[in-house]
Amino acid sequence: MRAKTNLFVSASSSATLILGFTIGLCTAQPGLNPLMHDRTEPLPRVVTPPTPSTQEKPGQPPSDAIVLFDGGDLSQWVSMDGSPARWLVKDGYIECSRGAGNIRTLQNFGDCQLHIEWATPAPPRGDGQGRGNSGVFFGLDRYEVQVLDSYENKTYADGSAAAIYGQYPPLVNASLPPGQWQTYDIIYIAPRFDPGGKLVSPAYLTVFHNGVLVQYHVPLTGPTGWLERRAYDPHPEKLPISLQDHGNPVRYRNIWVRELGPPSRKEFTLPRALLDSYTGTYERGRGDTIEVARQGDQLVATVAGVKFQLFAASETKFFAKTVDLQVEFLKDAQGRVDRLVYSVGEGASTCRKIR
Ligand code: MG
Repeated sequence: MRAKTNLFVSASSSATLILGFTIGLCTAQPGLNPLMHDRTEPLPRVVTPPTPSTQEKPGQPPSDAIVLFDGGDLSQWVSMDGSPARWLVKDGYIECSRGAGNIRTLQNFGDCQLHIEWATPAPPRGDGQGRGNSGVFFGLDRYEVQVLDSYENKTYADGSAAAIYGQYPPLVNASLPPGQWQTYDIIYIAPRFDPGGKLVSPAYLTVFHNGVLVQYHVPLTGPTGWLERRAYDPHPEKLPISLQDHGNPVRYRNIWVRELGPPSRKEFTLPRALLDSYTGTYERGRGDTIEVARQGDQLVATVAGVKFQLFAASETKFFAKTVDLQVEFLKDAQGRVDRLVYSVGEGASTCRKIR
């Protein structure tokens, strides 16, 4: 049985989101038990494995996967600013519409296993980087596994299909001809930063292309890009996965992901317009306020003079990671955000929005 994700996005133009507030089902490597053959050690969780895809038909994801696209709709995807995704959904696949821009997942992912299938246009058009170019990005838009028609199409090695763009060429070229469905199975390990923003460990990528190992735990130098290798910029461990609009009608199908590491809360990157509706000043007590501002794709709350980055657990509920601070925004009868409920470790207090 497939694990249902608790994420639903209505197709309405108001971009109303109804998101589940759950602890994600993650897979963590157990530590080494000093007692060998310990009969009390918990047994591995049972997962029904995926079934293989054929050219005609995508396979089934494993039972514990978060399904990002199963041929139905783009409900798990939005444009980079959070507005509805404008890629084409057709015959069980999505296709990049030229000029529609990159699309990203609503849910954020750190360490994960991603399965994604893609096909470049047939007959092929253009050459080099201009033929069937797209990309799978982790860390929102930072770390690209190149998607390209690399079948009898010469280009620079670190821009080939399955390259970590501009950093690592694939070990081999395992490309199928244009128009055929190809698979990537990718293990992404997010970079870690200390509280001061200093890099503690880099991002790592392992990639299988059509079942062939092409990237083996390579440490990224920083974000991928054309012409330059930028230094790391500190960012949250979990961020959306995105797909590139490089102007070519590349298709994707059967996209699923499994979160790795210890159990953690699900997180989402909400539309900036929605976040903006929560910003303002809320009265906490006489002369005392909570300030809520937006920085990029995140809300920042200042409580008793201390700033907290807030992470979205749902459309209205947020949490901090350094303190058990929880914040929920509430609306009045007219649908305007007029108060928030917050708690730190215990209890809950309601604060009225005053500006
Ligand atoms: Mg690309």
